[in-house]
Amino acid sequence: MKITVMVVMVVAAMSLPAEEHARAGRPTVTVFVENHVGVPSSDLFAAKSMARLMFQSAGVELRWRVGQPLPRDLDQRPIVVQIVSDAPTPGQPHALAWAMPFEGVHIRILYGRIQGAAQPRIVLAYVLVHEITHMLQGIDHHSPTGIMKARWNYLDFVEMQWHQLGFRAEDIELIHLGLDARASGRVTVARALPPASAPR
Ligand SMILES: [Zn+2]
Repeated sequence: MKITVMVVMVVAAMSLPAEEHARAGRPTVTVFVENHVGVPSSDLFAAKSMARLMFQSAGVELRWRVGQPLPRDLDQRPIVVQIVSDAPTPGQPHALAWAMPFEGVHIRILYGRIQGAAQPRIVLAYVLVHEITHMLQGIDHHSPTGIMKARWNYLDFVEMQWHQLGFRAEDIELIHLGLDARASGRVTVARALPPASAPR
């Protein structure tokens, strides 16, 4: 009987598509997106796809959802991204987004400051990855280069166009440390976005 069960399990595992098989061992993060400014669906889809690939390179699987989480979704400890046109960013006039790394849930992206870029969908992808990384790390950490740099310069934006701006090793290490803490702690979802505290 045990052998039969084992054989069934092995066959089931072997029948998984390669991508599913690779995905099986990764931590999964659910991210809800509220598109308040009508970002074109093709651009949003492309940005989310790129962001998902970037997180896969860090060993994390993103599960995208649309709109606000329902009470039944809270068990997944979701992240909520609100895409708005613009908002005051005191002391950070060029910030493209706000994150709440210590609260662990809410991100606000200022699309009005992104849509004028040569490839807004690519910049949006990188802003999503940068801010979601803050959430997963659970700290306000920036790196000297790469995706988690505090402020990107012209060369960074050029590297984005070629998909060459990446994570540093410590970024990935902090993501997994943060995920461990996130899994053991409690994160609550507030209905209203609290005052922003962490400019990008
Ligand atoms: Zn940042």
